[in-house]
Amino acid sequence: MTAEKLLKQYFGYDDFREGQRPLINAVLEGRDVLGIMPTGAGKSMCFQIPALMMEGITLVISPLISLMKDQVGALNQAGIHAAFLNSSLTMGQYVKALRLAKEGRYKIIYVAPERLETEGFLDFALSRNVKISFMAVDEAHCVSQWGQDFRPSYLKIMEFLKRLPYRPVVGAYTATATEDVRDDIMDILELQNPYVMTTGFDRGNLYFAVKKPVDKYKELVRYLHKREEDMPGSSGIVYCLTRKNVEEVCYKLREEGFSVTRYHAGLSDEERRENQDDFIYDRRQIMVATNAFGMGIDKSDVRFVIHYNMPKNMESYYQEAGRAGRDGEPSECILYYEPMDVRTNRFFIENNEDNEELDEFTRQLVKERDTERLKQMTFYCFTSNCLRNYILNYFGEHSSGYCGNCLNCMTQFEEVDITKETMAIMNCIDANRMKYGLTTIIDVLRGAKNQKVRSKGLDRNPEYGTLAAVTVPRLRQIMQELMYQGYLELTGDEYPVIKTTGLAADWQAEDEPLFMKLAKEKEPDVSEKTSKKNRRKKAGAAAVLAEKDLGLFEALRVLRREIAAEEKVPPYIIFSDKTLTLMSAVRPKNAEEMLGISGIGEFKLGKYGNRFLEVIAKYN
Ligand code: ADP
Ligand code: ZN
Repeated sequence: MTAEKLLKQYFGYDDFREGQRPLINAVLEGRDVLGIMPTGAGKSMCFQIPALMMEGITLVISPLISLMKDQVGALNQAGIHAAFLNSSLTMGQYVKALRLAKEGRYKIIYVAPERLETEGFLDFALSRNVKISFMAVDEAHCVSQWGQDFRPSYLKIMEFLKRLPYRPVVGAYTATATEDVRDDIMDILELQNPYVMTTGFDRGNLYFAVKKPVDKYKELVRYLHKREEDMPGSSGIVYCLTRKNVEEVCYKLREEGFSVTRYHAGLSDEERRENQDDFIYDRRQIMVATNAFGMGIDKSDVRFVIHYNMPKNMESYYQEAGRAGRDGEPSECILYYEPMDVRTNRFFIENNEDNEELDEFTRQLVKERDTERLKQMTFYCFTSNCLRNYILNYFGEHSSGYCGNCLNCMTQFEEVDITKETMAIMNCIDANRMKYGLTTIIDVLRGAKNQKVRSKGLDRNPEYGTLAAVTVPRLRQIMQELMYQGYLELTGDEYPVIKTTGLAADWQAEDEPLFMKLAKEKEPDVSEKTSKKNRRKKAGAAAVLAEKDLGLFEALRVLRREIAAEEKVPPYIIFSDKTLTLMSAVRPKNAEEMLGISGIGEFKLGKYGNRFLEVIAKYN
């Protein structure tokens, strides 16, 4: 059968996505591959389809138990025999799985890297009637010490391959690969003349926004209520920087009546697992968590990711925000900025325990690198240009500069003359070689009467109070812009001091006006605009479904949850939100029409088709 037919029959999809087909072809031709594709792009399909087409067995190396469970669950739901071998199995289950594997019952076997070298597994892999024709290494960046997720057990992959009397085709797949990591993957896995495919990092279905609410919690509650109206029951993650924050936000939201749970490293293993499952199985809607949550979570219908605090760098931000909308449906990524977050992150950088073993020189380098990354993250929060463009540029990709699906692209900006403010700021900083941070400079410019200002005699600064009429957020924004443009810079110390640069001196000598793009002071809340044209896309099903179809969509979700509970798999593994959305809009009347819907393969049709048709019939 052709790859297209398999894609349709088992997974119910009509076309391959960008990058999938060439990666599949190369493997089928017996060539090693390296696939670098963003989260949600569909990497699994790149090794699952060849696995179905090749003789023998495909091994998939995966770092996380939850990932394996999820993918094997999805394969079995699609009617493909697959199994996983990891420490979550009891000895009895493990032995049984190996026996069935030896008998050739599984086309695809997921295995944890640390299992590869065990006697039981080698016994299976080396038995005469077993042929491992393809080995897919998922999350391949785990072999590299450069990345954030290095796993020593990944180094066992090579040793294992060398023990086989033949060499399978090897495919490596990852979402995160800088050049260093990419080279590491190819070297360490000893890929032979690999076909390398990198697809764009853009996630078009994600809407990006940065907000600077006066009261973050209130803003969060407002947003969550609005989401409940737009699309009741949708899942989302709220990321906080500290455990304390997680506890606080989670507690308050629960008091308020939201369906929330929490996750951070301070909870017991058991509670973490429970809470994670509550979220994945749609028993709880909102997950409030530190960055400890998410690695290996494949939940594809996360409709929003809110960053209650600014993370430490763009890499973390994009990875965490990218957990929204893996199913390709419209989803939202919103970051709440607060100056305090910069300080907290700086503290983390200064006191990073991971760096303690490093020698002084390297530690200093790492610190500088992290400080620079934090700066780039902060600029993201202040740019007036397209946010998506900023992200893509950061990761070395070009883009048109206007996406139409981020807050900045949808906000009205005006060119504002900031010459006067800039002069005052620069003079203020230069006067008496001021050695203060951003906040103090702002205090002086606005003529604050606090203790620090008085005790240090800062009220004698020639610019004291000269910008009293400019709001604090705007002053902050102007100063961030001046930093971004290189007129000002912050020292990298624990208590950073703001300084003017050579560029500032040049500008002061030139007598040229300076402009910057600023959001109109009373920025209308785009999401609440009534004019149809400017109306922002809603997230999820609400974005595409007419009012009358939403009721059906809800009914289908209920049925999906029921089936998921029977099958003991997460609901999104039965059918994705996208598939339910299509069902609600198209309203198929029979099996044939059902098959026309993306995400419904023959196996699932046979298993669940009638039950869904019955519900739809009630609405027809
Ligand atoms: P990744 O591992 O790259 O993050 P996944 O393999 O988990 O992404 O795929 C993300 C989602 O996209 C899954 O729900 C998957 O079923 C879906 N998908 C993959 N390939 C296709 C395709 N060709 N057409 C439609 N949906 C697809
Ligand atoms: Zn944009």
